[in-house]
Amino acid sequence: MISALHIREGHDPVPLDMPTLRQKKSRDDIFAQTWQCKFCGKPMTPRMGAIRAWYFAHKREASECPFEAESEKESPQHLALKRAAAEALRKYFGKQVASLEYEVRFPNIRRIADAVITLTDGTRVAVEAQLSPLTLHQLQDRTDSYLRDEIEVIWVFQEQDHGGLKAGGIWDTCRQWLLDEGYLVLTARATVTQTSVPLPG
Ligand SMILES: [Zn+2]
Repeated sequence: MISALHIREGHDPVPLDMPTLRQKKSRDDIFAQTWQCKFCGKPMTPRMGAIRAWYFAHKREASECPFEAESEKESPQHLALKRAAAEALRKYFGKQVASLEYEVRFPNIRRIADAVITLTDGTRVAVEAQLSPLTLHQLQDRTDSYLRDEIEVIWVFQEQDHGGLKAGGIWDTCRQWLLDEGYLVLTARATVTQTSVPLPG
C-alpha cells in the first residue's frame, strides 16, 4: 500500500503517502513513526528497500482488511502503475489540483480507488490502474458506480508486447468502449526501472 495513517499522540491521524514522505523525511525518521492501515486500523510497517519503491505492509497477514477485497491485488507492478498514473495526472491537471490521496475507499460502491485527485472546483477523479483482467461488463459496472457517486474515473492500462492491449483483446474492447463513451484512457509503458504514463498534450 502506498498510504498509511500517521499516528501521533495528541494529534488526529493523518493519511500520508510514501512518495511524499520519501521526498521530505529520512528512512530512519519514517521507520521511527507509528503507522496504521486506513482501512482495518491494524499496524503497518514501512518497507524501504534499496531497489523497489517504498511502501507500507500490514505487520501480519490482515485477511479481514477491506483492502484485500476491494482493490486490485497488490504487486510491485500495481504499486508502480498506480503511482506513475497518479503522478502523471497530477502534472496533467497542474494548478487545478487541490489534493491527491492514494487508496481511497468508497463504501457505497465497495471499492478502494488507487488514487483520488480532487480539483479546485470540487471535481473528484478516481484513478483506476488495472493490471488484472477485467471483463467489459465489470469495467462498465465499476465506471457507472463511480459516476452514480458523482466521481469521475480515469482508467489506466499497461501496454504489453504480449497480451495487454492487443487488437481485439479484452483490454482493447474495454479501451474502445471508454473512448466511445468519451472517457480519458491512459496506457502505461513499463521498463525494468520505470513505469511511465504518457499523457495527451
Ligand atoms: Zn488493513
